Amino acid sequence: MLRNILLTMSQSEMLRKVATGFPPARMVSRRWVAGEQLSEALSVVESLRQEGLMATLDFLGENTNSRVEADFYTEEIIRALNALAAAELTPNVSLKLTAMGFDISDEVATANLRRVLQAAQQYDNAFVRIDMESSDYIDRTLAIYRQMRAEGFNHTGVVIQSYLYRSEKDVLALIDQGAKVRLVKGAYDEPPHLAYPEKRDVDANFVHLMELLMSAEARQKGVYAAIATHDPKMVEVTKLYANSHDVPRDAFEFQMLYGISTSMHHQLVADGYRFRVYVPYGTHWYPYFMRRLAERPANVLFILRSLARR
Ligand SMILES: Cc1cc2nc3c(=O)[nH]c(=O)nc-3n(C[C@H](O)[C@H](O)[C@H](O)COP(=O)(O)OP(=O)(O)OC[C@H]3O[C@@H](n4cnc5c(N)ncnc54)[C@H](O)[C@@H]3O)c2cc1C
Repeated sequence: MLRNILLTMSQSEMLRKVATGFPPARMVSRRWVAGEQLSEALSVVESLRQEGLMATLDFLGENTNSRVEADFYTEEIIRALNALAAAELTPNVSLKLTAMGFDISDEVATANLRRVLQAAQQYDNAFVRIDMESSDYIDRTLAIYRQMRAEGFNHTGVVIQSYLYRSEKDVLALIDQGAKVRLVKGAYDEPPHLAYPEKRDVDANFVHLMELLMSAEARQKGVYAAIATHDPKMVEVTKLYANSHDVPRDAFEFQMLYGISTSMHHQLVADGYRFRVYVPYGTHWYPYFMRRLAERPANVLFILRSLARR
């Protein structure tokens, strides 16, 4: 119930304006957001590197109907890729197609994504992850991903959400394409005819999809899985699967969000697993921040207390 309310609030333009214009809220957002400027995000990525953690930078933004904003977002991502490379950090970014003009047309978003992929191509180790948004966008996102692969861009990957009934079919198709897939539970408010309402079913599907993505058959086809969860049970079951099926440590990675479950980040690295932190930055932090509250309603109390202290 509270989850649904918070997810609905995450889409309110009025609340976004109030929150982002309220200095104490901006301070509190720093719990999960590296900063508003690229320079602040680069400092975070550098600190993570020193601790042995990899990173993917996310310039926050979503759902624009403005060509100017979509171009601005695209240029900032290219700037982030170049800045990471210039700082001798791995140019790895995550992006949202709705921030690149998906709501204007597929052509606008595709052209912008192509510009990012071309910019990334100049670096050997660059990678561009296309985040998955709400279910309205999935078919079109997967189609654009396929098109980019067909155009020869291999340094890109997509995301699959285990809360959706359709995800097994999507995973099987992505395995055939030898895709690089991040597996998550899913962060949006989806209706029960599309998504499992019960957590236990979402978790069971997560395990099933993880096993498909990490299977010998998938790896032979070139699949590389990023298991993105803070759920200790999902992490444990992934480790067990990897150990019992001789999945090499460099054939997959774990991912978590900046500022969440940080003790697990260090433990996984200490145990010899590849591990990447998703590092968001930018002024458009409100919807991202609200989705983090929705994932763990106990966070609401924590945030209210922090705001009261300020
Ligand atoms: C690297 C990464 C990239 C992602 N990309 C996408 C994407 O492209 N599309 C998409 O729909 N979703 C994405 N997500 C979000 C994801 O779908 C989930 O909403 C989120 O990860 C919470 O699910 P969970 O797997 O951590 O498990 P849950 O069952 O939600 O949580 C398990 C435990 O993790 C801890 N935890 C989880 N969330 C929080 C939090 N916000 N604050 C504090 N503790 C928490 C709690 O201890 C909780 O009990 C991404 C997540 C990660 C880690």
